[in-house]
Amino acid sequence: MITTRFAPSPTWYVHIWSLRTVLYNYLFAKKNKGKFMLRIEDTDRTRYVEWSIDNMISVLNTFWLTPDEGPNNPWDKGPYMQSERLDIYQKYINILLEKDLAYYCFCSSERLDELRKEQEELKLPTKYDQACRYLTKEEVEEKLKAGHPYTIRLKVPKNENVVFEDMVKWKIEINTKDVDDQVLIKSDSFPTYHFAVVVDDHLMWVTHVIRWDEWVPSTPKHILLYRAFWWDVPVYSHLPLLLWIDKKKLSKRTGDVACEVYLEKWYLIEAILNYIALLGWNPKTTEEIFSMEELIEKFDLEQIHKAGAVFDVEKLNWFNSKYIVSSNIETLYTKLCDYLAKYDKDFYENIFSKFDEVYNKKILKELQTRLNYFAEFKDLTKFFYTENIACREDLFINPKMKIEDISVVKKALNLTIEILKNNSDFSSIDEMKNKFIEEIQKNEMKNWQVLWPARVALTGEEFSPWALEMIYILWNKKASLRIEKILNLLK
Ligand code: GLU
Repeated sequence: MITTRFAPSPTWYVHIWSLRTVLYNYLFAKKNKGKFMLRIEDTDRTRYVEWSIDNMISVLNTFWLTPDEGPNNPWDKGPYMQSERLDIYQKYINILLEKDLAYYCFCSSERLDELRKEQEELKLPTKYDQACRYLTKEEVEEKLKAGHPYTIRLKVPKNENVVFEDMVKWKIEINTKDVDDQVLIKSDSFPTYHFAVVVDDHLMWVTHVIRWDEWVPSTPKHILLYRAFWWDVPVYSHLPLLLWIDKKKLSKRTGDVACEVYLEKWYLIEAILNYIALLGWNPKTTEEIFSMEELIEKFDLEQIHKAGAVFDVEKLNWFNSKYIVSSNIETLYTKLCDYLAKYDKDFYENIFSKFDEVYNKKILKELQTRLNYFAEFKDLTKFFYTENIACREDLFINPKMKIEDISVVKKALNLTIEILKNNSDFSSIDEMKNKFIEEIQKNEMKNWQVLWPARVALTGEEFSPWALEMIYILWNKKASLRIEKILNLLK
């Protein structure tokens, strides 16, 4: 059975690029009716962050990428936390020691540092000089008995070629004379990543390793371990780097990389998944919108490209707005309420839910074509939820719109009030627009001479929805009251 895995080290939040790794592993497993597994690689105790495991599991669930097996839903290949598998690594290191394929190294970190410095000064590749590789059995036993701290290293075979090519066309050819005798067990008796990943991928029957291309240079080391054990090597796919639009590498320092940031702005899950699926994978069609089912059906490791893929927040906004526009208003409204209740409780409880649902839905519907993500809602709609509108005389005057003095403003606002009073609520914006145009012409004014002051009176802002949109949502009566109030304040 095809088996894939996501094998994070719990050190921080889930990065957006890790989410892509999870997604590709998930899609490939589901497409092949296989299994997708979660394994926590927590052997580097210096970087270990406890909360990040729960966070990781919760992010996977939130994104509907729940693993078939993992620490929260164990099956027959556990434990799924490497720190709980230490006896397993011990068993396999003993096999290598017995077969003389690994050796104890008693070199202190000071000696290794010095060695590295010397090699750097001489511009030589930095490598362990194999000082302990040729210790006699007796010497080793003596040192062990005396309690010398040690690591265990792989006895890398001499002069063998390692060639590997993955599904993304990464190809590496290396001779073992250029490969370091890597440490397999550290002095704290935890395995290194390189050792644990090979043992676990083998014991957990992982058939396809899909991971970030940072691991390409390490893969020959992994292959040497597979050879030492006479195990089958899994099929590798290394995913391209993610870059910001300015070609800088995605990192904590260069921008928002934690998935949380995007959840907190409440991008729709389906939009994020759709967008990141296309970062590095080419579905070979001009179509861009894919549901999860379609992604599973179409996903193909052969169509992953090697070149770095650009993560562009504007493009993510585009995907999200596409999903918002095509959502049914009832579903969208429920999601908006969930979002506000979770992330902006104060606004939700004290303001939003005090207005009736019809009004709120009308606002959302008007905004549906303009909203990039839900976190913009409050800011874009503040004029609808307050009666404290500033009287902005400075904004009313607008020579570009032929409004040179306040008398034009007053005339415009009076005309607006009159139109609203003489008509019951309009059933559509178009109907209202036609009425306004007709009345404005009758009064020998220009459209903007009326609509600009109306908009400033209704919002007190320079950037806001257009006057007719505001009036339509507020209803005629509320809109005229607002305008009257401002009119009274004008000198
Ligand atoms: N623990 C490694 C990481 O977090 C996993 C690499 C792999 O998938 O082999 O990058």
